[in-house]
Amino acid sequence: MLGIDTNIFPHTAEVNEANHLVIGGCDAVELAQRFGTPLYVFDEITLRRKCREFVQEFVQRYPDSQVVYACKAYINPALARLFNQEGLGLDVVSGGELATAQKATFPMDKIYFHGNNKGRDELEMAVRLGVGRVVIDNLDEIELLNDVAKASGKAQAVLLRVSPGVDPHTHGHTTTGILDSKFGIPIQTGQAEEAVIQVMHASHLDPVGLHFHLGSPIFQMEPYQEAIEVTMAFAAAMRERHGLEIREFSPGGGFAIQYTEDKPPPRVAQYADTIVSALHENCKAPTLPPPKLILEPGRAIVGQAGVALYTVGAIKEIPGVRKYVSVDGGMGDNIRPAIYGAKYEAILANRMGDKNRERVTIAGKFCESGDILVEDVEIPHAGPGDTIAIPASGADCLSLASNYNAAPKPPIVLIKDGGAQLIRRRETFEDLMRCDLI
Ligand code: PLP
Repeated sequence: MLGIDTNIFPHTAEVNEANHLVIGGCDAVELAQRFGTPLYVFDEITLRRKCREFVQEFVQRYPDSQVVYACKAYINPALARLFNQEGLGLDVVSGGELATAQKATFPMDKIYFHGNNKGRDELEMAVRLGVGRVVIDNLDEIELLNDVAKASGKAQAVLLRVSPGVDPHTHGHTTTGILDSKFGIPIQTGQAEEAVIQVMHASHLDPVGLHFHLGSPIFQMEPYQEAIEVTMAFAAAMRERHGLEIREFSPGGGFAIQYTEDKPPPRVAQYADTIVSALHENCKAPTLPPPKLILEPGRAIVGQAGVALYTVGAIKEIPGVRKYVSVDGGMGDNIRPAIYGAKYEAILANRMGDKNRERVTIAGKFCESGDILVEDVEIPHAGPGDTIAIPASGADCLSLASNYNAAPKPPIVLIKDGGAQLIRRRETFEDLMRCDLI
């Protein structure tokens, strides 16, 4: 990667006279010096533009749409506040994500609570806080949630997450809408119909609609079309057979982003065209009243806004084989290359214009041979102290981060107009041992 590709880097990325990467008006090399590395930088303008793009593209085609950010891509209270300002809801999958939303005083009625094995304590918390929707994922949850709602004397609005049996052609670890998945209630086995009957007879559940999520990232449009067709046909049958009115429908998330130069994703407008036309078409045929449409992008909201900064340390050249450039982070803060074979670009943020380049492999500092961040990437000759920037790092890196090798997790700064706001400080060794008892 020679210059800056603003399809991969944040929209505000540019190069200054010192030949340094600049994001949100901040010199990335100065950010690395000021906050230390590894450092995660989120560009506020890109984040807000992504939120607005999703809202606009869907609302202009289907006014009764609500965009709900899927927190699993990464959430903290500062980002939750920003999403609230942009009018988004939140998709949470645990008591912890719910607590984060609560800390940000996020409106609870705009929260969708997902998960294939929510605990009673989590459901109690959700009902007590008044979350908008619980998305029921299996038959056992119906009785459990009804019990919890009954005990609190409330009726809980729910969606049923169905499994439409459609393959989105993603990595096996990120495919969820096929029959053999731990997520969702299969339509084709008759279990989804059984769930509809049970929910409709539950004293304290209000069945509002249906949901599916196929997997991530989805580069093709057909899986959405096919799954909407299957699910709306099921909705029509349930209306006819059991009187279920579908007031809400969600095709989940899964919207792709660009990580590398050779793999551009579909535009948000294409996803919106496909989903909205499929919904219209399939509501027409069996005459279903058009439901409210709920979209759950995660990666596509935060991915491009985030850049990871690292400092180069040891260099190891194996003649005729490979040159390893090691950095001060790795699989502790970004495990995606190790678990999914995820691909990234990388640049030398302190020598942007340098044309004297070589092919290297960027290795992390963790005690695993598989701790490779980027394999075979062309960058200028790097040496100790140089700053490496890896773009498209906003999604599924920090949320999957660990303290492997007792490494403190990195800090996060939110940047805009040349200002940097620390929204998470670096963990300390003391933080690592906070829960340990001697
Ligand atoms: N909705 C549900 C139910 C999910 O499980 C996920 C991801 O796992 C998403 C939305 C968000 O997916 P993505 O980040 O690919 O948009």
